[in-house]
Amino acid sequence: MGGLFVAATTVTGRFAPSPTGALHVGNLRTALASWCAAVCGGGRWLVRMEDLDPVTSSREHERRQLDDLARLGLRSDGEVVRQSERFDLYRGAIERLRADDMVYPCYCTRREIREAAAAPHGDGLPDGAYPGTCRDLGPGQRRAHEREGRRAALRLRTHGERYTFADLVLGEVTGAVDDVVLQRNDGVPAYNLAVVVDDHLQGVDQVVRGDDLAPSTPRQLHLHHLLGFAPPAYAHVPLVVGPDGIRLAKRHGAVTLDDLAAHGTTDLQVLRLLAGSLGVSTPGEITPDEIAARFDVASIPRQPWRFDPSVDLPR
Ligand code: GLU
Repeated sequence: MGGLFVAATTVTGRFAPSPTGALHVGNLRTALASWCAAVCGGGRWLVRMEDLDPVTSSREHERRQLDDLARLGLRSDGEVVRQSERFDLYRGAIERLRADDMVYPCYCTRREIREAAAAPHGDGLPDGAYPGTCRDLGPGQRRAHEREGRRAALRLRTHGERYTFADLVLGEVTGAVDDVVLQRNDGVPAYNLAVVVDDHLQGVDQVVRGDDLAPSTPRQLHLHHLLGFAPPAYAHVPLVVGPDGIRLAKRHGAVTLDDLAAHGTTDLQVLRLLAGSLGVSTPGEITPDEIAARFDVASIPRQPWRFDPSVDLPR
């Protein structure tokens, strides 16, 4: 039997919510975009629970978020991993950076950081960037902070590196890197580090997420580089705003699947609305697979999508 075997180059995408509340239309739209971008070419899509913060995250929110994704036909193609169960992996990465002298303890309080960051520093750092107060403390100064009972966060030592990346939605984006926190002063690994370690270990090579995270991408590219990982491709999707032009939130009214169902909007109607907002036309009934087949990342509008529950919902 003759046959031509072509090695599949499949994409692995992911959606990585923090299980701190119900997913709203904005989160669901990002989830749908990341799912379509992965599966439209026969790729895989993973869901990862970013539950680093034990105070704000809960299993109840996790269960509900997974249920809501399933209501739209979006299911993880692999085990749903929880960041709360992977601290050893993140600490291992910090140890590798520490061995290269890339890590230092930072004793600053939030207030001290705010005040120092607000002072003019004129060295090209992004607004609000950590100005490096603790970067060059000597052993005596560190001991003095520790005697005062201050607990140290761990920060990455950077040197004003800048990264440019070709975002699949935003085009070319350039940003500076600052001394990001790698581990909070309560011992919890920090977001930027955990995301980089997980995207690498899970084989994620395409990240589709909200454009509020675009400013963090240079930091993540830098961490990928320092850890010797190949970075994923990025597509940052403009956020969803309410009728007032402000980022969509609970106070805008019916914004979760349950809220919308209580107003008589079916899950399928929500799916079609979201698909339309991503540039996929949806005449009549449409399945998630048909949406993925018609999806093109290049058709995602570059403007925020304004969602007004009182106007946009089919009735
Ligand atoms: N956990 C982040 C959030 O819910 C998303 C992180 C990411 O996609 O890189 O906003």
